[in-house]
Amino acid sequence: MRRVAIALLALLAVAGGVLLVASGGDEAGRGDDRDPRQERADARTADRAGRKARRTRTRVHRDDPRLRPTQGNGLACRAAPPVMRRRGPRSPKRIALTFDDGPSPYTKAFLRVLRRHRAPATFFVLGRQIAGREAVLRGIIREGHALGSHGWSHRSLAPADADTRRELRWTRDAIRASVGRSGCLMRPPGGDIGGRLRTLLRKRGEQAILWRIDPQDWRRPGSPTIVRDVLAHAFPGAIVVLHDGGGDRTQTLKALPTIIRGLRERRYRLVTVPTLLGLERTDR
Ligand SMILES: [Zn+2]
Repeated sequence: MRRVAIALLALLAVAGGVLLVASGGDEAGRGDDRDPRQERADARTADRAGRKARRTRTRVHRDDPRLRPTQGNGLACRAAPPVMRRRGPRSPKRIALTFDDGPSPYTKAFLRVLRRHRAPATFFVLGRQIAGREAVLRGIIREGHALGSHGWSHRSLAPADADTRRELRWTRDAIRASVGRSGCLMRPPGGDIGGRLRTLLRKRGEQAILWRIDPQDWRRPGSPTIVRDVLAHAFPGAIVVLHDGGGDRTQTLKALPTIIRGLRERRYRLVTVPTLLGLERTDR
């Protein structure tokens, strides 16, 4: 009898795991084109993954030397008014590349390209995709990039209600569980933000980072179009949105070296968002 019960429990655990994997592998989706059933399914997934993230929190090793950034200051940032920024100052001639919807199976490849070109960037990660990719997040910090929250499930955070607060809290917890600290940067999914979310973020000490250049790489228009769009619209202080997750990111990956080279030929210095906006703490 007991053996049957154990077998049943094991079966349930496996089924739960499969469900989690299946939903985790979905396209992140965009806040504006989702149906309510999908939203409810996402909420259930977020509930399960949230519990999992909270369990893994106890496994943080704050003194792990691997967590100390060798360069850059990716998580040691302090929010500053205004609470929402789309761009940085026009001088000096700098530009910030940002990547949304990861961590994904593509993120490591993005990190390799950035490493090869010594180009710092900023990653806005989805909390529900962190489990199992904690080392990727540590790599982001270790290699001098900046890391921010993109919410838990990619649903709109504009309502600033209890669900929003949960999405923000769980994602911060998952980031902290992975890299030891959590930082101040956040990017609202779909750029969806209003007065209510701004007020909530101000209270939480988080800084909403939007963008001014969007080549819509997630639509997969082809690498040359992605490159052309970024280079044609580049200006000093610009924040560029690209994606390292949410589907097949081969085109973005292929476009990245040409984007970096093109910007440098135009005398831009690539910097992280905290560097561009002067959000880095100096007291650490
Ligand atoms: Zn997104």
